[in-house]
Amino acid sequence: MPDHLIEGLRRFRRDVFPRYREHYEKLVREGQHPSTLFIGCADSRVVPELFTSAGPGELFHVRNMGAFVPPFESDIGYHGTSAAIEFASIVLNVDSIVVCGHTHCGAIRALYDPDAGRTPHIDRWLNLAREARVDGPLDEQALRRTEQRSIALQLQRLLTYPELRERVENGTVSLHGWHYIIEEGTIDILDVDRGEFVRMPM
Ligand SMILES: [Zn+2]
Repeated sequence: MPDHLIEGLRRFRRDVFPRYREHYEKLVREGQHPSTLFIGCADSRVVPELFTSAGPGELFHVRNMGAFVPPFESDIGYHGTSAAIEFASIVLNVDSIVVCGHTHCGAIRALYDPDAGRTPHIDRWLNLAREARVDGPLDEQALRRTEQRSIALQLQRLLTYPELRERVENGTVSLHGWHYIIEEGTIDILDVDRGEFVRMPM
């Protein structure tokens, strides 16, 4: 039993929940209507509600290793991320989608490791970002470039979902690429026109 989590839950129930009670009751009564699908890395240091100050009901999350987006496929696999993308964009009608990578991403680092063999699901999953790799020495800068190139790649892949593509093209849904800088608590945002990431103005 993770005692510290149970203790945290008690604190939440006692100190935090009462402030949100009415809001939660409304969300239950009226259902959720999140504005944003947040596709983020599962990394424990990435805490979107903390750094966006979003409250309950605002972000619909899909989190996986690397914040990757699988292509639209019609085979019989269990496509958890794709199902969540469909649900958020077609059923919940979100108006924006954020793909949020981050610095020091283990999934991105692993793109440069040889296939481990004993982790077949991971090895295959990493195929979703292999083309984001860069040439040259594997230093901090190269990893950051890879993280950013992967974010752009995942955004492009969202357009393989026919109905979502239609919504993007007619302006109902907007796509955003974020690179979260863990050690600085800030975000570099993909500027599509300039083709580069720019620091969020403070
Ligand atoms: Zn990560």
